[in-house]
Order: sequence, then structure tokens, then C-alpha cells
Amino acid sequence: MTSTAPALTVEGITKGFPRRGRGFQPVLGETSFSIEQGEFVTIIGPSGSGKSTLLKLLAGLETPDAGTLTLTGDPILRPSRRLGVVFQQHVLLPWMSARQNVLFALEADGRSGRSAKDREQLADYWLDLVQLSDSKDMKPGQLSGGMQQRVGIARAFALESEVLLLDEPLGALDALTRHALQLQLLHLSEQESRTFVLVTHDVDEALLLSDRILVLSQGPEARVMRDVRVPFPRPRDRDTVQASQEYLALRRDLLDLLTAQS
Ligand code: ADP
Ligand code: MG
Repeated sequence: MTSTAPALTVEGITKGFPRRGRGFQPVLGETSFSIEQGEFVTIIGPSGSGKSTLLKLLAGLETPDAGTLTLTGDPILRPSRRLGVVFQQHVLLPWMSARQNVLFALEADGRSGRSAKDREQLADYWLDLVQLSDSKDMKPGQLSGGMQQRVGIARAFALESEVLLLDEPLGALDALTRHALQLQLLHLSEQESRTFVLVTHDVDEALLLSDRILVLSQGPEARVMRDVRVPFPRPRDRDTVQASQEYLALRRDLLDLLTAQS
């Protein structure tokens, strides 16, 4: 495949789950979209509409009942190191320091063939970027929720997957920490050429970070009902973005779409 293939395509997928007991619960109705290389795309939708299910399909953690998903033209059939995932709650190893957690993931990722010294430099580089230089020798139990989340983000970025899939990575944090981490994610993503897919409930977060917002309809059989381009020039900062007329109009549209259906 050429390098101009979309980073991700979703073609006519559907997905449901067996109901406990008997029967079948449809979750995603027939859905198609594609995401270009280097794009930052956010998926928003009502709670329970199937956002996490969609992200798991993109991550190769679930398989669709119909349709196909591709990563630069290759079918997504199982989890891959090319697809990094960050969930709301991180699975950090509690007996290892923040730095050891990142190093452990880099060691497990045999692909790069890096020396131990290179891995240490890479871990320190990303821990510095998420502002954990002073706390990197602490264990998860000694870190706040926001700090643990930053370790998870540093770990995912350090692995250098082509695509980063983020499922409400800031969802469990208090408002102030969340605000600060949104700016860090904004800066990190603007320095990177890789592709991002973020799931969030937060319309302001979506507008700050994304090139495009896909709005999922309320399930069952949720589908992408709107594909909204976010026109703000980059590099962005929150004040400039939020001060624009377009911001208010887009924000109102998105909130209307989300509240109309719930
Ligand atoms: P969202 O992330 O938008 O809140 P989810 O994708 O987590 O929604 O869930 C959508 C629906 O699919 C929910 O009704 C949920 O109960 C159901 N679901 C998700 N995963 C499973 C599973 N592994 N088994 C059964 N039902 C599931
Ligand atoms: Mg979810």
C-alpha cells in the first residue's frame, strides 16, 4: 500500500453482543468512515452508544460481525504494535516505578531493536514531556490519578505506534488536572505526525484537540451521524480557539446533536 492510503478505514461494519441469557444486542449499526494519516479524529456520542466498542474494533481487540477495518490498507484482525491504546484507567504495574513501567513496555516491544541506553533515553524523554521528571522513580501508588494517567500517556507515546487510540483518557480526572492534560495532549499531538483517535464526552475537549469530530447516534445500532470538520488553525491555544465565533457555533451544534437524542 502507498503511504497515501488512509491511516484507518472502517467499511460497513456492524457489531453486537450476545445478551446474557439469550438473544443478541446490536450496538453498532452499519458504519463506514476513514481517517487520514496524521489526522486527529474524535468520536463523541451518548453514553452507551458504542464508542468504546468502536475503539476496540479499531484496536483489533474486538472483531466486527460484518464489514472490514484496515490500517494503511492492511486488515485489522488482532491487536498490533502499530496501534497504541490508552484507556481511562491505566494498567500500570504497581511494583514498578513510573519509569520502569515505561521501560518495561519498551522492552516488551522487541520491534525497535533499541539498546538499553536508547530505551532509557526514550522513556526519560516522554516522561519529561508529560512533566513527570521529578516523579518518575515513584510507584503508581505514590502518584495521583492525573500523574498515573500521564505515565500511561508517556508509555503509549514512547511505543511509537502509527496510530494512538485514546478512550476517554482524561475522563476520570478532576477538572483542573483534565484541563492541564488537555493542553499537554494538544501540544504532544501537534508535535507528532501520527494519527490520533480520541473518544470523549467532552465537546470542548473535542473542539480543542481535533481536526474532525465524528458524532455517534444513540444506540442500538449507533452509526456516525455527523462528520464535523474543526477548522481552527494550528498550533492552537485554548483562548484563541474558544474566543472565535466559529467555536460557539460548533459547540452549540454538537451539544444540540448530543442532547437531542438522549
Ligand atoms: P460507550 O463507550 O459509548 O459508553 P460501549 O461501547 O462501552 O459504549 O457499550 C455499548 C453497548 O455495548 C453497551 O450497551 C454495552 O453494555 C454493550 N457492550 C459493550 N461491550 C460488551 C461486551 N463485551 N459484552 C456485552 N455487551 C457489551
Ligand atoms: Mg466507553
